[in-house]
Amino acid sequence: MSWPRNDPRIDDETWEGWQAQFGESDHAAGFEITRDFQPFNQMNDMFTRAFWDPAVRSHDTDGFFASYRMESAPRRGDGFSLRDFALRNAAWVVSDIISNRAGETGLREGFQGAIQPDTPVAPVQAELANPQEEASEIKRIAKLFGADIVGITEIDPRWHYTHRPDTRDMTAIEDPLPEGMTHVIIMGHAMDFDLVETYPSALAGASTGREYSHEAAICIQLATYIRNLGFKAVASMNDTALVIPYAIKAGLGEYGRNQMVLTPEFGPRVRFSKVFTSLPLAMDAPRKLGLAQYCNSCTICAKSCPPKALPSGPPDLGAGSPSTIAGVKKWNADCEKCFGYWAKLKTDCAICMRVCPFNRRYARWQDRLWRWLALRRAPALAHWWQARQGTRPRLKPRDWWARKGN
Ligand code: SF4
Ligand code: SF4
Repeated sequence: MSWPRNDPRIDDETWEGWQAQFGESDHAAGFEITRDFQPFNQMNDMFTRAFWDPAVRSHDTDGFFASYRMESAPRRGDGFSLRDFALRNAAWVVSDIISNRAGETGLREGFQGAIQPDTPVAPVQAELANPQEEASEIKRIAKLFGADIVGITEIDPRWHYTHRPDTRDMTAIEDPLPEGMTHVIIMGHAMDFDLVETYPSALAGASTGREYSHEAAICIQLATYIRNLGFKAVASMNDTALVIPYAIKAGLGEYGRNQMVLTPEFGPRVRFSKVFTSLPLAMDAPRKLGLAQYCNSCTICAKSCPPKALPSGPPDLGAGSPSTIAGVKKWNADCEKCFGYWAKLKTDCAICMRVCPFNRRYARWQDRLWRWLALRRAPALAHWWQARQGTRPRLKPRDWWARKGN
């Protein structure tokens, strides 16, 4: 099977329209987008390729996905026992219930297709305050449901998948959002610090699964609230659009060398969900915080990556992998190497999240001082301090289990 094209080259009129609408905020966000830009076809993401692309699919990748059900792969290494896999899979289960419920229609809700509404849009619209007040109210409600950080930005078609797979036969289909969506609410969900300290392990995968289960509930609840107000709202996790550029545009963080959004609150230890809506809301602006700037002279994540999938040099346009979006200058991972490592482990890896110096609790004054130096005052001093401290050693999974009162 040949690669599905990401998208035919976009025409000049569309490109110029995008420049006029998004050029200023692209600049503020630090985005460099070339004329070769092509919106992304979800058929080409690594997880989807693992189902149809013989260059990716293997005994290991099939075993990786099966291990999240009941076919776990316990083995002798610390962090890979039956109990470790059991906790990881239990953490995922609410997300799994949502993503499996429409399987017979070829839709994997939250991953390969948006989460379908359980309730219609109310026929009567609520009376609205001004967009600033509505935005601040929406953030409050999102946090009430459990989001840790929230930002709002405008719908940007460049980041929306041109196609998703019909999961019955893995053919590419178009699946646009309903008409009239104007805004996207981005919610960040912090992963458990101690579990992340045990990466790589099946136990650590519970930190990922827990947030997917949380975010499924939270984005469904927020979308339902908005529909009850009489406005359109679609709950979304990894489906429909790339969340990283949206999170950056919504002012939640900056793009790091480890391919994650670095946030000032949690560093990269955060997952994102989103709600597309027609509710008129004030938008947040992207922020240049200094996190990405710090990455320019830090390679801790790249050096710590077992398959050497992360770049050590400056941002570039990528090496032409179909899993890399075309025409965006950024740090690009070798996705094939990264996912190949996950498949061998039979669980996700986030060593590059664990070792990042921005991954701290920030409850201690020393960590807050380090961040203040890194972002504002003296990044060179922060680098020196970080080097002197060294990277925290991995928390042994058996020590996590031995702790009381986690
Ligand atoms: S997730 Fe693991 S394998 Fe992938 S880039 Fe990060 S450290 Fe490397
Ligand atoms: S480890 Fe260093 S280079 Fe990698 S994302 Fe964190 S700060 Fe950036």
